[in-house]
Amino acid sequence: MFETLSDRLTSVFSSLRGKGRLSEEDINATAREIRLALLEADVALPVVRSFIAQVKERAQGAEVSKALNPAQQVIKIVNEELVEILGGETREIRFAKTPPTVIMLAGLQGAGKTTLAGKLGRWLAAERNTPLLVAADLQRPNAVTQLQVVGERAGVPVFAPEPGNGVGDPVAVARASIEQARRNNHNVVVIDTAGRLGVDSEMMRQAADIRDAVQPDEILFVVDAMIGQDAVNTAQAFLDGVGYDAVALTKLDGDARGGAALSIRHITGRPIMFASTGEKLEDFDLFHPDRMASRILDMGDVLTLIEQAQRTFEEEEVAKMASTLASDDDFTLDDFLQQMAMVRRLGPISNLLGMMPGMGQMRDQIGNVDEKDLDRIAAIIQSMTPEERRTPKIINGSRRLRIANGSGTQVSDVNGLVTRFFEAQKMMRQMKNGGGMPGMPGMPG
Ligand code: GDP
Repeated sequence: MFETLSDRLTSVFSSLRGKGRLSEEDINATAREIRLALLEADVALPVVRSFIAQVKERAQGAEVSKALNPAQQVIKIVNEELVEILGGETREIRFAKTPPTVIMLAGLQGAGKTTLAGKLGRWLAAERNTPLLVAADLQRPNAVTQLQVVGERAGVPVFAPEPGNGVGDPVAVARASIEQARRNNHNVVVIDTAGRLGVDSEMMRQAADIRDAVQPDEILFVVDAMIGQDAVNTAQAFLDGVGYDAVALTKLDGDARGGAALSIRHITGRPIMFASTGEKLEDFDLFHPDRMASRILDMGDVLTLIEQAQRTFEEEEVAKMASTLASDDDFTLDDFLQQMAMVRRLGPISNLLGMMPGMGQMRDQIGNVDEKDLDRIAAIIQSMTPEERRTPKIINGSRRLRIANGSGTQVSDVNGLVTRFFEAQKMMRQMKNGGGMPGMPGMPG
């Protein structure tokens, strides 16, 4: 997500490193570089202009600070301006006073509406709501079935027109779904509407008809972030044709540049409410401008990582991990295996890396550790005796051969793992001795 922009900005900042004071020329040069980075990221021109003007003005007026060096000060300004351009505050759903709260999804075909309906349903249910998904996309032959499949996976009921009932009337379906929600105590209704490959007046009219019939509390415009500037044009067309309250950005996982995310708020005046970052149902969350800005600047998104961990792990597991970290006992291969298993449950390694501070530049190296490597490591450790796991020093040549045979790997794989483990052990010892995280590149300073 946003790798290109991230890399460009990080290199802009590293050129400021070591400067004691920023001259007018330094500020101008930095502004030029940031401008190029944003243009390359496909950010809309008016947004780039306003962003650069703000950064320049603030950098020139910045007071000499004892706490921050000039590079850090520029990063701070850029960070704050990024948060601003991404919408400032996190925009939460506004629930209706009398349920059901009606959320309508609109957008082009392929934007990810149906997938998003399932993700939103799952997310709402996890937040103690009782959502109902509604299939009001009767245009695309498969759309109703697709929503039913997604709903089933998300564990959320789906309201759909009876099969064989002619062409079907999406407005009638949407209306009937609200009745159904009242009868069955669903407090939120999520209506999936039809999209087309391009913006057309017929689609707009249908969406507007549904809107008028059900008076949604929230209309969400769903848009594929990977289409960059085109997202901005489509966003404008939907604003004129249907109107909406907020935006859900999809496919952020495939968006190296970030143009749509950075432009849409400024151009439409509507906040981004949700971010979808993968094909799986759990790849979805509220959009937090501050966390996103930190991610872009490679300052990490530790908050999301922690929340994800809290959702994924039982409390005892976290406590156990914490006590391993705190105890005086040496870090063993069993601990190593346990930590690896926990980390894997959080999701794909490459997603996690993006959330860790300073890991952006390491992404290329670590990004190609694939999940199979992890399976191999687990197999090797499981082929060791308890004694070997506790005291890895005893793993000599003949033991390595036995372990390799037992795990279906090569002796070189076992050697590699043992070496990596000793490095991890050394790092754990340093952390336990209060040395903090060694070798974790942080902000340039
Ligand atoms: P709709 O036509 O707007 O209902 O779009 P769909 O929900 O059918 O999604 C179109 C395609 O995009 C499907 O193949 C989805 O799996 C995929 N998709 C949806 N959201 C995401 C996302 O956040 N990341 C990725 N990588 N793919 C997505």
